[in-house]
Amino acid sequence: MDLLIFMEHTNVEDNARPLKGWRLTFLHWYKGDADAVVAAVAKDDHQVDWVRMLPFAVLHLSCLGVLWVSWSPVAVGVAFVAYWVRMFAITGFYHRYFSHRTFKTSRAVQFLFAVLGNAAVQRGPLWWAGHHRHHHRHSDVASDVHSPKEHGFWWSHILWITSRPNFPTRLYNVRDLARFPELRFLDRFDTIVPILLAVAMYALGEYCGSRFPESGTSGWQMLVWGFFISTIVLFHGTCTINSLSHLFGRRRFATQDHSRNNIWLALITMGEGWHNNHHYYPGAARQGFYWWEFDPTYYLLKMLSWIGLVRDLRPVPKRVYDQDVSGP
Ligand SMILES: [Zn+2]
Ligand SMILES: [Zn+2]
Repeated sequence: MDLLIFMEHTNVEDNARPLKGWRLTFLHWYKGDADAVVAAVAKDDHQVDWVRMLPFAVLHLSCLGVLWVSWSPVAVGVAFVAYWVRMFAITGFYHRYFSHRTFKTSRAVQFLFAVLGNAAVQRGPLWWAGHHRHHHRHSDVASDVHSPKEHGFWWSHILWITSRPNFPTRLYNVRDLARFPELRFLDRFDTIVPILLAVAMYALGEYCGSRFPESGTSGWQMLVWGFFISTIVLFHGTCTINSLSHLFGRRRFATQDHSRNNIWLALITMGEGWHNNHHYYPGAARQGFYWWEFDPTYYLLKMLSWIGLVRDLRPVPKRVYDQDVSGP
């Protein structure tokens, strides 16, 4: 069966197709048990699906491998680079581009950063953007998928991802992105890129260890630092915006939700901590609305615009600054 046609027919809205064997197994995983999902959504299921907690548990436990592989400056350095590059792909592209369309770019750059974002092991760009758009429409009310006020800290931080209603991509929210077959492919097969990254990290460590023995690294050490530890820290860093930034910080704008501005969260997420600004006006490429609000994602986007890789960064309108009750 043609792959794209196969993908077209695995949407949540589709009726079950008479597939058998490995195709059925494969379809089930990527379709998220569509019928069960629809039923679960209907009764607003806030249950943890423990089977789907397994990948998270394995990723976390793998970090303990550091007890056996120790560390080296090169492995820790690679972990840092892998953290910041993928954080930028998440903040600049998964969030500010795919979810909010705050600037324009070419199809090639769009795909490149979709792949880098996918490497962060936060699922595909359509899944991410579909849920995030839902969050903005339902912020801190019962139907919000990850409100700490409504559903508690741990639910908002990590558990919501494992629940059945939140497993499938909310395609109805991302019709504009679903036009691109390459994005649908990444979204449907969202474990391919992370696995390739893990293999690449192992190969890099083996290469460094044999070519430069004085580096003191190895394949396993690079895998643990460059993939497992880097990915887990990145994951929790990103998740703080769903949990902590709706709990701690200052409120510049009187939004309907509980979003807050928090410099500490801005530091670890490259500028996403200005969450109250962002909830008040999500349409701007910048989230630090003033020069003193550290927003490196915006600075990098600005630099990319200078070399023509992105364009038309949407500014914060004057009327938004006029609503700032705290003043500049
Ligand atoms: Zn929020
Ligand atoms: Zn947003």
